[in-house]
Amino acid sequence: MGADWNSFDARAQLLTARKEATLIRNLAAARARKAARHSQTCTCTPCRVRRYDDNRRRTAALVKAGA
Ligand SMILES: [Zn+2]
Repeated sequence: MGADWNSFDARAQLLTARKEATLIRNLAAARARKAARHSQTCTCTPCRVRRYDDNRRRTAALVKAGA
């Protein structure tokens, strides 16, 4: 069965909600595994974005804690 990629919800035609959730979890796990292979000081774009996100999350947590 082929997907109609011109449809606005092409994904939903092939995947059940449960399968889509599993796919998203697997993609996240793969991203995490990939990130683990980079060094702490790596300057590639994904690492920079990850670091920026981490810093922002930590800053937000500090602000929330009233530090
Ligand atoms: Zn990197």
